[in-house]
Amino acid sequence: MSTVLDGFPAARGIVSARVHRVDWEIPTVPHRVLDPSEIDDELIRFAEARSAARQRLEELRARTAERLGEVEARIFDPQMLMLEDSEVVEGTERYVRENRLSAARAFEFRMLELKARWSRTSNPMVLDRLNDLEDLQTRVLAALLELADPWDLDSIAEDVVIVASNLTPSMVVQIESPHVVGIATDHGTRGSHWVILARSQMIPTVVGLGEVTRHASDGDEIILDGRIGRVIIEPEEQDRTTFLERRARLRTWEEAIESEARQDAVTRDGQPMSIRGNLDLPVEVENAKAAGADGIGLFRTEFLVLGRSAMPDEEEQFQAYRRVAEAFDGQAVYVRLFDLGGDKFPMFLNMPAEENPFLGWRAVRVLLDKPELFRAQMRALLRATVHGDVRIMIPLVNDVDEVQRVRALLEEEEDRLRRDGIPFSRGYKVGVMIETPAAALDAAELARHADFFSIGTNDLVQYTLAVDRTNAHLAPRYNPFHPSVVRQLHSVSRVARAAGIELSVCGEMAATVLGAFLLMGLDIDTLSVAWHTVPELKSVLRELEATSARTAARAALAASSARDVMECLADGIGDAVDLAPFRGRWELALPPR
Ligand code: PEP
Ligand code: MG
Repeated sequence: MSTVLDGFPAARGIVSARVHRVDWEIPTVPHRVLDPSEIDDELIRFAEARSAARQRLEELRARTAERLGEVEARIFDPQMLMLEDSEVVEGTERYVRENRLSAARAFEFRMLELKARWSRTSNPMVLDRLNDLEDLQTRVLAALLELADPWDLDSIAEDVVIVASNLTPSMVVQIESPHVVGIATDHGTRGSHWVILARSQMIPTVVGLGEVTRHASDGDEIILDGRIGRVIIEPEEQDRTTFLERRARLRTWEEAIESEARQDAVTRDGQPMSIRGNLDLPVEVENAKAAGADGIGLFRTEFLVLGRSAMPDEEEQFQAYRRVAEAFDGQAVYVRLFDLGGDKFPMFLNMPAEENPFLGWRAVRVLLDKPELFRAQMRALLRATVHGDVRIMIPLVNDVDEVQRVRALLEEEEDRLRRDGIPFSRGYKVGVMIETPAAALDAAELARHADFFSIGTNDLVQYTLAVDRTNAHLAPRYNPFHPSVVRQLHSVSRVARAAGIELSVCGEMAATVLGAFLLMGLDIDTLSVAWHTVPELKSVLRELEATSARTAARAALAASSARDVMECLADGIGDAVDLAPFRGRWELALPPR
C-alpha cells in the first residue's frame, strides 16, 4: 500500500528516487565531573572547539558565497555571531569553572537554557533560528567529542530523496552530490534558512509533511512533487504511471513556456493582462527579467534583513533598490517597506516573544513604533526613485491614520535629502497593501490617501478566515476561494475602479489557474506572482477568456461555499486548461495543459 502525504511545496520539481534517511541528532554528551586540575585545559579545549567551528563556518560561508551568492552566504552570520556571544561563551565557561562540568556538558547546558527561552514562542521565524542554534550546537559538540561529520553524502551512488525530521543550513549547503534529487521533511517552512538554500540550489523540496520520517525507510521508493507539496512512499503501479505522465507533460510544458516567456499575456478574447514578478532577493532580479515579468509587483525587502546581524545601511539598500529599478527600466517596481514581525523577525532585534505573532506587532505597526529602523530604507528608496519607477508600498495597513503617518515620515526624509542636496523624484507613488478585512472594508476611505492598492491575499485569507497561514494542520482550511474572500476582492476592485486608482493582486492565489481566472473575472488585470511562475501564468492566461471569467466570477459571487466557488471557476475554464491533477484542491502551482 502506498502512503500519500501532503506538506508545503517549497521548491519545484517532480522526482522519483529511493529514500535516504538522515537521522541526525544533536550528539549525546557523557556526564563527567572534572578534577580541579583539569579546568584550565578544559577551557582551552572549549576555545579550540569554537575556533574549529568558526573555521568550518567560514568555509561554508565562502562556499555558499561562491555557489549561490553573497546574500545566501549571510545565512551563516547569525551562527558566527552566536559563537562569539557572551551569553554563550561566558555562560559555558562559568559552568566549567564553577560546576566543574566538561566543556561539552557545560556547552550543552547553556544551549538548552537558550533554547528553552526561545522556545516559549510559536513564532516560526524564531523556531527557524532555533534550527540555526542546533546546527551550531552539533558542530561545536562534534569538535569537543571528536565525532565524525554525520553528513556524508559523497558515497551515495544512486538517486535519492533525503528524508529527515528537519535539516540545517550547513547540511544543505554541503549537498553537492548530483544524486540528491529531492528533500522531504517533517518540519520546516518555506522561509526556513535551509529551505531558502535548497530552493537556490533548485533541489525539489517538500516540507512540513508532519510524519514522513515515520513512514519512509531507507531504500523505499518515493515520488516527490515539489509543485504541489506531495510525496508518495512505496507507490503503486498506478502512482508510477501517473508520475511518469505528469513529469513528461510538465517537461514539455516547461520547455514550451520558456520559449514563450517574452510574449504578452493577452487572453484568447484579446484582454491584455499585466503580469509582474514578486522578488525576495535582489540577486533574483535578472531571472525575473528573463522570466518576462512586466515589472516587479512586490519586492519583499525584509529578506535583506533576515539572517543578518544588523540592519543593512542606507548605501547597501540604495544599491539593492537601484539594481532592481535599473533592471526594469521603464517598468514599475513596487518596493514594500520592511514587513517585519509575523513569521519574519530578525533575531538581532530581540523582539519580545508574542503569543499570536500574526496578530501582533507586525509590518506598519513596527514601522510606526520604531521609525528609526526604517529611516535608512526610506532614504534609500527615495534616492532610488531617480533610477527608475520605484513605488513604495506599506504592508498590513488597517486605517488612514497609518498611511498619513508613514507619508509624514517620508516627508521628513525628503527634507533631509533636500538639505543634503541629494536628488530624488518628486511625485513618486505611495500605496497600501490590502491585507486585512479592515482595509478591504474601508478601502473607499484608504483610496483617498493611497496612490495604488495591492491586495496581499496570503494575509487577507489568513485574517478573514482566522486560519494561520503557516500552520500545516490547517492547510485544508486555508482556502482563498472562501466566499468571504471573493466578496472582499470584488468590493476592493469596485472601489479602486471608482476611485480611479491602480489595483493589483500580489498573493499566491494569483499564481493559480483558478485564482487568476477569478481575479480577471473581477476586473483585476494586474497580477504579481513569484517571478519563476510568470511564464507559466502568462501561458495559461493566453488560453483563457476574459468574458467567461466575468461570467464565472458573477456565479462565484453568488456561491455559498469555497467548493462551490471553485466549481463555478472550473466550469468557466472548461477544457481550456487541464485542471485534472488539481480538482478539488487549490494549489500554489499551475498545472500543465
Ligand atoms: C500577502 O500577504 O499576500 C503578501 C503578498 O505578502 P506576504 O506573503 O509577504 O505576507
Ligand atoms: Mg502579507
